[in-house]
Amino acid sequence: MAKQPIITVKNLVKNYGDFTAVKDVSFEVYEGEIFGLLGPNGAGKTTTLEIIETLRDKTSGEIMVDGFSIDKDTDSIKKRIGVQLQAAGYYPNLNLSELIVLFSGLYGINKTPMEMLEKVALTEKAKAKYKDLSGGQKQRFSIATTLINDPRIIFLDEPTTGLDPQARRNLWDLIREIRDNGTTVVITTHYMDEAEVLCDRVAFIDAGHIIGIDTPDNFIDKLVATGFDRKKQVKSANLEDVFINMTGKEWREE
Ligand code: ATP
Repeated sequence: MAKQPIITVKNLVKNYGDFTAVKDVSFEVYEGEIFGLLGPNGAGKTTTLEIIETLRDKTSGEIMVDGFSIDKDTDSIKKRIGVQLQAAGYYPNLNLSELIVLFSGLYGINKTPMEMLEKVALTEKAKAKYKDLSGGQKQRFSIATTLINDPRIIFLDEPTTGLDPQARRNLWDLIREIRDNGTTVVITTHYMDEAEVLCDRVAFIDAGHIIGIDTPDNFIDKLVATGFDRKKQVKSANLEDVFINMTGKEWREE
């Protein structure tokens, strides 16, 4: 089946004063994929995402999201996307059920807390306050909030930063499940191992430019074909494997 673009970015430019943070960036995100934006700190990833999310104005360029132009249909776009809030956005003293009710109300949507918490394996924490969750649980909860409006696309900005290996793998499983249920996922990460196993395609962005877009496999195969040869790993497991093996990998309280 031909891949359908669900996001099209053409010649996007963003200036902050006389500094150009995003320099003529063009790319497409296909429907139903996990698309990774990778690059060093300050490369322009968050700026690019926030413009697509309608949270920040662009300087120039064209953006279409699920058939709607960012210049004309901001409201339609907002209805179709889910954006992960930074932790500061939650009232720390409300419990998870209360927060879901609050967010559902803001969206004007009737979702039961249990229905949403179920999606991220947090029903047992329904009465817990956000501030009392572990790092992994906080991330799972914030992903649940992105799903309240049954979005076509969700945007996750470094969702696994600071998590332990188990929590990270649990989150990967969750993100794959969300994709498999038909939601397109756009993610930023600094972990290249994560991008390699999780993303269907990745774009490298550096100093405001896109310098390559492909599947992780193609990128790696192309590099290997040039004769690149990494220092051989002599052991068939690494310390992360030891950690996972000793502590178990299934859903458990992090
Ligand atoms: P990180 O990986 O650290 O999150 P990033 O790739 O998301 O980085 P951006 O946050 O988009 O990068 O920032 C891109 C550039 O724009 C940086 O040089 C940053 O300092 C600058 N920048 C971001 N926001 C503003 C702003 N509001 N005013 C001025 N400059 C800004």
